[in-house]
Amino acid sequence: MVDYLAHADSLLDNPVINPNWSQQARPLQWIEKIVVHHEAQFRPSVYDNTPRYEAEAAYQNNTSIPGSLGLQYHAKIDNVGTITWTRPLTTILWHCGNLDVNNHSIAVCLDGNMEDQMPTREQLESLKQLLDYWTSPVSGAFPANKGDVYPHQEFSATACCGTNLIPYVNHYRTSLGNPAMLDVPYDHPELQPPVVPVDAIQAPVAATTPEVAPTPAQEVTPVVEPVVAPDASAVPVPTHVAETTPAPAEVPASSPAPTPTTAPATKTPFWSTTIGRTLLGLLTTLITPAILALQNAQPKDAALAAVVLGAVTVLTTFKDLLNPSVPNTNSSK
Ligand SMILES: [Zn+2]
Repeated sequence: MVDYLAHADSLLDNPVINPNWSQQARPLQWIEKIVVHHEAQFRPSVYDNTPRYEAEAAYQNNTSIPGSLGLQYHAKIDNVGTITWTRPLTTILWHCGNLDVNNHSIAVCLDGNMEDQMPTREQLESLKQLLDYWTSPVSGAFPANKGDVYPHQEFSATACCGTNLIPYVNHYRTSLGNPAMLDVPYDHPELQPPVVPVDAIQAPVAATTPEVAPTPAQEVTPVVEPVVAPDASAVPVPTHVAETTPAPAEVPASSPAPTPTTAPATKTPFWSTTIGRTLLGLLTTLITPAILALQNAQPKDAALAAVVLGAVTVLTTFKDLLNPSVPNTNSSK
């Protein structure tokens, strides 16, 4: 489907169609209704919009709407759906034979005589796009919405906008913007954009997927590693540190001593020292006799064994708390 709004024309600078009519100015906030008209003239398949719309303005000024000035519709839609902006929405136009409604409405007119002709498929698609736009906030924020769209016939005795178009307009209003499309052909199907094959639609989707997928994967991987490293004993941490600090290693090459000194100096775990390891070994060897004492000994001995067991348990736990990370370099020293 053509984006008719994106390809709209403008005749706002045409003095016959849009002459200065400043006494008819109003604020946008007055616009409470949208009125749909038909041209009531036979619509050929090929024609030039500008002279056609100029002639229509002249006919209205001299004959059908005496006292009016310029074309009395804010927008026109031709046979191929081209929207032409013809008057500013802030200009009150004389289009529906009702002064109050004229003051508070905007008007769009479809080319053709919808009493004798069907609207073209392009005109219906274009009309819906225009009504959707006018009733959306981006259009300028006036009060009229999808429930305020009417055929001209609603406000005065007329056949406008034609028996072949009035049901579509009424359905737009009652369905709040979702009218059933009429079974009418395109007047110029060759102007419609080509149908995009399904394969072409899937191709870009498949192309996007691999680009998106690796990104989160790469983000997750580094996150997991640092979390695991500190928890799973001290081994990985010093390994990384040692590998990531080869730069300073060049300096100590002449004097290797300073390098190891820097790392262990800050953290010397008690249970890695000679005294610590001896004490830990002593406590461990006491576990078995203590259990035996608990099983068949005097209450005194049992109490002593319980104290020893408790001490071992506390110290073992304390050891873990004291040594969250034990560098290999330390234990080798
Ligand atoms: Zn009308």
